[in-house]
Formats: sequence, structure tokens, C-alpha cells
Amino acid sequence: MVKETQFYDVLGVKPSAAPDEIRRAYRRLALRYHPDKNPSEGDRFKLISQAYEVLSDPKKREIYDQGGEQAIKEGGLGSPSFSSPMDIFDMFFGGGGRMARERRGKNVVHQLSVTLEDLYNGVTKKLALQKNVICEKCEGVGGKKDSVEKCPLCKGQGMQIHIQQIGPGMVQQIQTVCVECKGQGERINPKDRCENCNGAKVVREKKIIEVHVEKGMKDGQKILFHGEGDQEPELEPGNIIIVLDQKDHSVFQRRGHDLIMKMKIQLSEALCGFKKTIKTLDDRILVITSRPGEVVKHGDLRCVRNEGMPIYKAPLEKGMLVIQFLVTFPEQYWLSPEKLPQLEALLPPRQKVRVTEDMEQAELQEFSAGEQGWRPQRDASEEDEDGPRAGVQCQAV
Ligand SMILES: [Zn+2]
Ligand SMILES: [Zn+2]
Repeated sequence: MVKETQFYDVLGVKPSAAPDEIRRAYRRLALRYHPDKNPSEGDRFKLISQAYEVLSDPKKREIYDQGGEQAIKEGGLGSPSFSSPMDIFDMFFGGGGRMARERRGKNVVHQLSVTLEDLYNGVTKKLALQKNVICEKCEGVGGKKDSVEKCPLCKGQGMQIHIQQIGPGMVQQIQTVCVECKGQGERINPKDRCENCNGAKVVREKKIIEVHVEKGMKDGQKILFHGEGDQEPELEPGNIIIVLDQKDHSVFQRRGHDLIMKMKIQLSEALCGFKKTIKTLDDRILVITSRPGEVVKHGDLRCVRNEGMPIYKAPLEKGMLVIQFLVTFPEQYWLSPEKLPQLEALLPPRQKVRVTEDMEQAELQEFSAGEQGWRPQRDASEEDEDGPRAGVQCQAV
């Protein structure tokens, strides 16, 4: 049990989420609510960042689970408690943190939605992006060549200092970035400003890039366009970073190079054999056949070699296709009682019990697990309720 769930809620994951799920949730939300794309959601972006910072660190996550946000703030993990959302974002998406940011224009990070078919077959997608480019008219000066002057508001410091009274006889100095020059320390005299960029030195431009998604690439993989990001005067341009976001597939789940699917079979098929077809991600039809006499139990796994995902950079090699069989049992009372002996005659013998006088008869009733919040003990390796352990017991009375 965790003390509070707010950080998990912010990322939209359960408190039991694996580290990978947390990374994935952050990746999607951070890109959606990044101030470049969603300027009005700055607070949300900050919350996502804080939640990720805590939950991605096993030590901090444990402290949070036990004592909630308060424990993180008091936890002696060094103050300030949280890193800047931009630093977390840059670290995650490979921007290299603040140092790199100051020497280079901003990276433009964009998510590209792909299907599992795209990752299997490879695809080229066109993507329209907005980025800053140096204004051509003023060549990045922002106005006439000699119109740059020291900022009159901050006197070239780039910062403004405010004195605030916080109590009787107590004052606090607060430094903020200068509103006039935005920290530059210099500005263009308003009357000399470049009309094209309005003194900003850069203009927004739409750019269409072609993204080659190669066979075997995976969810979360980054494709880098070096030097294609935002331009800023006197700085190296940033990069465009495309992050692949794979949509869930209705049949296959990917695990590394392998594909996993569930297949329902009838009890008769489980006992007497079957032939089934599977449509592959490149639209071929595979036929799988069980051997006569082979019994496939509920939850059993079988695999087909070389029908998994292509391996990135070596796409002729593929992983495995793993099939988990789910046996569908017949409905209640599907066979009339007088026919049961015929069925029984073919099945392995049942266990006989000798009832003696000193035993008690007990009534067997339907049980609904949801009723009292009762949960069966689950194996950590098990993943969902259709899994192998949701066992059905067939009891002949
Ligand atoms: Zn200033
Ligand atoms: Zn200009």
C-alpha cells in the first residue's frame, strides 16, 4: 500500500507500475504538455516532471510510497527538492542539460505515432514542424546594424533586483530576468527594430522533414536530425529529435525482438488437435497445426521461430512469435447427464473417494471474488486476468 497516489495519478499509472511504464507515461505526457506545444499548461508540465523525477528514482519512489509528497520535501534529499522541468526534459530526450542548452539553440522534440506494422515493415513519414530560423532580413541582428544598445531598464545586467519587505525590519532581495531585454542585457531601440522579426532576431518557420522508420525500431526510439532544430544568433543550431510512439496492437504485443499473442481454442481442439491461421504484420497467413494426441493446456506457450520482430539494423533476422493458448471450456451443463459416462469413458480416470460415516457433507457454492475484495494470490510474473493462472477447475459431482 502507498500513502498517497497523486504522483501516480499525474502520470496516469497505477502504484504498481513497472519503471518502464513510468518512463513511457512521462515521455508521452511531457511531449504533449511541453510549453512549446501547450504554453497554457506550464503547471501541468511541472507536475508531470516532478512526478517523474520522484517515481523514476527507486530511492525517492520508496520514500514517496511510504510518506507521500511531504516526506520527499523533508527527505533531506538536498534542496531544492525538484529539478527544473526543462532539465528533466532535456536529460530524458537527450538535450544534454543546461550546459548544452546554453551553447546551442533549442532542440525541437516531436513525437511520431507509429503502428506495430510500421515498425515491422519500415515506413517513411512526412512530418511538419515549427522551428525558429535566423531572420534573413536583419541577419539575426534584430534591427539596423548599429541599433543595438545597452538595455536601459537593467543597465545591461540582464537581471532586475526587487526589494520586498517580508516582515518588520526584514527585506528580501529577489532577482528576476529583465522584462525589457529578456536577460540579454541589450536591446534594439524600438524605432530601429526589424519589421520582419519584430526585433526577435528569429522567425518561426514551418519545415517538413522525412522520417525514415527502419525495420525493427522500437517504441521510444529517437531519430536525430543533427543541426535541424531551433536557430539562434551566435549559437550552434539545436537538433530535431523524433521520438517514436507505438500504438497498441489489437493482436500482438512486443517484448524485445519477440511478438506475443493470445489464441483462444476450444476444449475439443485442446484435446483432439487443431489447425489455426495467424495473419502476420506483413499480411502473410501462417498456418499452425498441433500434432494428433498433443494436449494443449490453458495458458500453454508455443513459439514459431523467425516470425517475431525484425532485428534493427539486421532485419533479415527475426525474433520469435510466442503464442499463449487460452482454452475455452464448454458452458455449464452443456452435456446432458446421461451422456456424461460416454465422455468419462474416454477421459483419464477420475479420483475415487470413499465416504465414511465420520465425514461431513459440505455444500459447494458459486464464489464471486469481487464481493469481499478478495483476490487470489498472484504470481509476480503473471500479467493479466486472461493469463495462465485464472484456472478453471472442472468438478464432476
Ligand atoms: Zn534589461
Ligand atoms: Zn529581422
